[in-house]
Amino acid sequence: MPRGRVPNDSLPPMIPYGRQSISEEDIAAVTAVLRSDFITQGPVVPAFEKAVAAYVGAQHAVAVNSATSALHIACLALDVGAGDVVWTTPVTFVASANCAVYCGAKVDFVDIDPRTYTLCPERLAEKLEAAKRTGQLPKVVIPVHLAGQSADMKAIRELGQRYGFRIIEDASHAIGGSYLGRKVGDCSYSDIVVFSFHPVKIVTTGEGGMALTNDAQIAKRMARLRSHGITRYPAEMENPPDGSWYYEQIELGFNYRMTDIQAALGLSQMDRLDAFVAARHSISARYEEWLAPHAITRPWQHPDTHSALHLYIVRVPPGSAYGSHREVFERLRADGIGVNLHYIPVYRQPYYRRMGYAVTDFPNSEQYYREAISLPIFPGLSEAEQLQVVRCLTRPSGYQTLF
Ligand SMILES: *Cc1c(COP(=O)(O)O)cnc(C)c1O
Repeated sequence: MPRGRVPNDSLPPMIPYGRQSISEEDIAAVTAVLRSDFITQGPVVPAFEKAVAAYVGAQHAVAVNSATSALHIACLALDVGAGDVVWTTPVTFVASANCAVYCGAKVDFVDIDPRTYTLCPERLAEKLEAAKRTGQLPKVVIPVHLAGQSADMKAIRELGQRYGFRIIEDASHAIGGSYLGRKVGDCSYSDIVVFSFHPVKIVTTGEGGMALTNDAQIAKRMARLRSHGITRYPAEMENPPDGSWYYEQIELGFNYRMTDIQAALGLSQMDRLDAFVAARHSISARYEEWLAPHAITRPWQHPDTHSALHLYIVRVPPGSAYGSHREVFERLRADGIGVNLHYIPVYRQPYYRRMGYAVTDFPNSEQYYREAISLPIFPGLSEAEQLQVVRCLTRPSGYQTLF
């Protein structure tokens, strides 16, 4: 066993739902940083920020150690605090809601569109009208581009202008995707866009995230919050600098910094972002073809979007010939296929349940939760593995294999 190789012989082989793709170029880029003078806070973090901002067409980018951190400082930069309300979709990772709770705000949810599974603008409009009457309008709304497909940002932004809320796009799944012909991340429809660089996402830095904005003040604020709330700009200081060593902590921030080691991996991965998304589309096209004859609900692609296809989510309708949702899920797992369910609606989590959300308020999310399964999709998934997935998925219920 070569040093540094992690033994995994004890685990049965499993096709994961997602995994990173690391090239020799990526390894060389990381190694070069390890041999350089700076392994953190050197030139590579800003180079990575510049590359992502240029790719998506945003003016400012702030790299951090996770998308969760990016969501947190994004909320703070929009002055989310105690007494405020933030709305998001229930069908997301808990981080999209937790970020508001970190700031002392209250969270509420808006049900999903039954076709795209993203935050539904019609439900949002209804909920806003009701909230206006009770004086409980949200300060920020956080749509999530589930599976890599942009939410209906045009409609959400129009509502934002009418009802006066700000918008953070949780685009953790969506770097490389586009919406109405523009890259997700260009902030045309929002104040801030957040990406995740976790290894299952489209491009990775190990752990990492980024917040993009076209507002210079918001960018500055997020950069400060990323590093303890400290500023080195005399214009932002309360007192004249004592000397060239001087800095001031002017608010409470965090250590959410990304390292140059991580940024080197991310920067190198950006060279293959379009290839990654294209590979995901090839896999999706094969699933589309192979699943078409079967009574399995395939993901619907809205004509306004070009998805980054982080996830390929199918639905097993009730009464399916392939078995119940649970039966199909367990069969795939037993066959070594690491399917997943993205996501358990956040209001169902015990932490949130204690805040008193009623599952009856979110019929589309509930139905989605009863039927959804994420199939494996990642660059490097072989055609043979995909065939195994489809065969197992579409095996008639109760069918016994004879050994
Ligand atoms: C992965 C993910 C996050 C959190 O990303 P980290 O980089 O792991 O903090 C947030 N929101 C969504 C929708 C995600 O999928």
